[in-house]
Amino acid sequence: MTTATVVVDAAFKASVAVPALIVGGGACGLTASLQLAHSGIETLVVERDTAPMGSTSLSSGFIPAAGTRCQAALGIADSPSQLVSDIQAKAHGLACPQLAEAYAHTIGEVIDWLQETHGFEWEVLTDFLYPGHHVHRMHTLPQRQGVALVQALASAAERSGVTVYTSAHVHQLIVNEQGQIRGVRLTRPDGAIESIGCEALILACNGYGGSLELRTRFIPEMLHATFAGHTGNDGSAVLWGEALGANLADMSAYQGHGSWAMPHGSLVTWALMIQGGIQVNSRGERFHDESKGYSEAAVQVVAQPNQTAWCVYDDPIHTLGMTFPDYIDAQSLGAVKVCDDLSKLATVIGCPEPTLAQTLAQMAGSERDQFGRQFARPLRAPFYAIKVTGAIFHTQGGLDVDPDCRVKRIDGSRLANLWAAGGAARGVSGPHVSGYLSGNGLLSAVAGGAIAAKSVTTYLKGL
Ligand SMILES: Cc1cc2nc3c(=O)[nH]c(=O)nc-3n(C[C@H](O)[C@H](O)[C@H](O)COP(=O)(O)OP(=O)(O)OC[C@H]3O[C@@H](n4cnc5c(N)ncnc54)[C@H](O)[C@@H]3O)c2cc1C
Repeated sequence: MTTATVVVDAAFKASVAVPALIVGGGACGLTASLQLAHSGIETLVVERDTAPMGSTSLSSGFIPAAGTRCQAALGIADSPSQLVSDIQAKAHGLACPQLAEAYAHTIGEVIDWLQETHGFEWEVLTDFLYPGHHVHRMHTLPQRQGVALVQALASAAERSGVTVYTSAHVHQLIVNEQGQIRGVRLTRPDGAIESIGCEALILACNGYGGSLELRTRFIPEMLHATFAGHTGNDGSAVLWGEALGANLADMSAYQGHGSWAMPHGSLVTWALMIQGGIQVNSRGERFHDESKGYSEAAVQVVAQPNQTAWCVYDDPIHTLGMTFPDYIDAQSLGAVKVCDDLSKLATVIGCPEPTLAQTLAQMAGSERDQFGRQFARPLRAPFYAIKVTGAIFHTQGGLDVDPDCRVKRIDGSRLANLWAAGGAARGVSGPHVSGYLSGNGLLSAVAGGAIAAKSVTTYLKGL
């Protein structure tokens, strides 16, 4: 259980004080720090790990952005309003409209800025379209891995003169009698406690996927599912926010994933499903429309016997998979089983061969099937199979914020000097798992980090 607390301490004296303090050194905190450094604001990032990593380092590092230079160079026509429309379509119109607008209109500028100012070598993924995106807009560094993204951000922050305290676990926010943040207390690995004062605080410490207590409260449907995010997602921001009277929003939303290799514990790209692969349970039966999205698929997979399913696909799809580092990792771990024929596939899955034969035969129909999916072609031997479970990757609910990422109280007013972004704040997925559009996580982290930093700059310059 996390020990995040808030104390009122009118006589608070810090050993170090900075104008802008950021809790968390993932994509959100580091992007915010770069933007603040660019504006000439002295900034300190405090990170509990020995190096900035976070869930960002576990991710694929794909960031959706509209109207960027990279897209223009490839002749891709896109706009922030099209991105808003895709976000809202996936969220059934329930994404916070002001945040969807703010993030969609900011992310392209930030991607271009990181390229021009900090030398990020973005590529746009054009191999396939993620569910719900109308155009190719996933931006990634050439390594196609979140660890490369966080390392690039950390290096840029270092070059920009940002100070990052690592092995610094913030456990307490200090406020004055008016509820204004005065600073934080943090614990070092040897138990030593340090205090840092600040004029403005940005919470960039992600969500509550790693807290059983908070998952029981807000996402009971995934209580027993694998949590594949970073252990630092312990819900500190939520607990601090509640203690400060902040509003919480979209708390039942999260990014699930229906393709977490078992027992290897690694991500298997959903591109396999989008390109025509299917999921079957241990009886050899399909159970949902795999083309809808990986997030909602998590709930479907967890509802199957033993909370597991098999991703089944064939040679052309395997070839596409080999362009994704996560798939290559899964293969090197032994997760990918190759089956020369249907009989071998049924043996690997442990299901009756006639049932599996019928499942595959149903893909040949020209009509939509019972789940609403239509296939361009049936799968052909040799078959490939990976045993998977449904996992929760990160939570999409959090502190309610305005379009400047200022934290809101329950009555709608703003807390004096507290900002939250990335996984610490509510996202743009609405309240349901099915509302998660691919990339909403890093969209919120990178765009939200930049927005919070600009707002903090304005606030500090006005003091
Ligand atoms: C397997 C996987 C794949 C994913 N793929 C994608 C993808 O391709 N695209 C996408 O958009 N999203 C993806 N996501 C989601 C994405 O990783 C997150 O939404 C995003 O990284 C959140 O960024 P953040 O900066 O808010 O949090 P994080 O990157 O988690 O950073 C938060 C940091 O805060 C630190 N911290 C926490 N509490 C404290 C404290 N009390 N004191 C000090 N430090 C603290 C943590 O150690 C951590 O380093 C994926 C997630 C997973 C798990």
